[in-house]
Amino acid sequence: MGGERPPARDADGRILLKGLSREALRAWVDARGGSPQAAARIWAGLYRHRLADLAELPGVDPELRRRLADEARVDALTLDEVREAADGTRKLVFRTDDGALIESVLIPGDRRATLCISSQIGCAMGCHFCLTAKLGLRGDLSTAEIVDQVVIARRLFGDARPISNVVFMGMGEPLHNPDAVIPATHTLCDPEGLDLSSRRVTVSTSGLVPAIERLGAESPARLAVSLNATTDAVRDWLMPVNRKYPLAALLGALRRFPLRARDRIVIEYVLLAGINDQADDIERLAGLLRGIACKVNLIAFNPHPGSELRRPSDAHVLEFQAELRRRGVATAIRRTRGDEAMAACGQLGRAPAADAPRRRRSLPIAATP
Ligand code: SF4
Repeated sequence: MGGERPPARDADGRILLKGLSREALRAWVDARGGSPQAAARIWAGLYRHRLADLAELPGVDPELRRRLADEARVDALTLDEVREAADGTRKLVFRTDDGALIESVLIPGDRRATLCISSQIGCAMGCHFCLTAKLGLRGDLSTAEIVDQVVIARRLFGDARPISNVVFMGMGEPLHNPDAVIPATHTLCDPEGLDLSSRRVTVSTSGLVPAIERLGAESPARLAVSLNATTDAVRDWLMPVNRKYPLAALLGALRRFPLRARDRIVIEYVLLAGINDQADDIERLAGLLRGIACKVNLIAFNPHPGSELRRPSDAHVLEFQAELRRRGVATAIRRTRGDEAMAACGQLGRAPAADAPRRRRSLPIAATP
């Protein structure tokens, strides 16, 4: 992993504890005279017990606890609202310190739940089918703000149906914010902390090739790629990132992506009637993916107000799946959930407050078309 950045602080200068790696927390505690055991208890308090206030934390010296209260903060986000759709999907709206609203979506399964989290406020990638794209990019989330979405959701809902899967498919292009996202994946998978299986933490990208390579080298997370087209012409139009990193470059990065045994890259393919769902697309898609260990998730487009794009019929989606399978491509259909709360794929897009300031970025917007 690259060198650690200085810890994020709030406007009062307090350190955001969930922005620290376990090693950085140990060093921070050590610098204040605390023992490694105290650091381990604080780490467990943050992630195992999901405490909102470390004053409740047993076994930590009172002086260290006082310094924690003075110099550090537990939660980086404030929960603003929870909206539940008829199918049990819950949209969690969080407020950042600077007044922006970001969203996570909790999708319950039979025994476990998946949490879809955001990595940026808005998004710069401009994908044609996506509601979030209409916000533009308002700023990056910090590691603490990314991790906090999972901690607060687990605190609220985790015991009845544990959150065992986390997908970076909410607002933002995670690989446009790798300096915050990659450390967050380590905290999510830390066995002493949130202890998510690295097979169940998935970072989804629109196709930022250099950052895909960095993710493969530096993160335990799985990779998902939003492909959505089988020619450069269509993908250039649907996903402007393709003009910088066309299909050949993207597929080359997928071929080189390091995979563990039995692991596969997830290829997301949003089906848009008349645009990328034709017989030729099936043939080309099977050809493009040949030699890549992957599985395809088909998602019927979920229309949003003002979009001219159309959803194909369910029968057509089933036929597309059957034809891909016939060509040896592992293919599943992903049901969109939470339509009622506007929490299905590509629909995370509540506008930030009109006066919410844009955050300064430390990274250039390398792939913005
Ligand atoms: S689909 Fe993803 S990468 Fe594309 S604009 Fe929407 S949030 Fe950004």
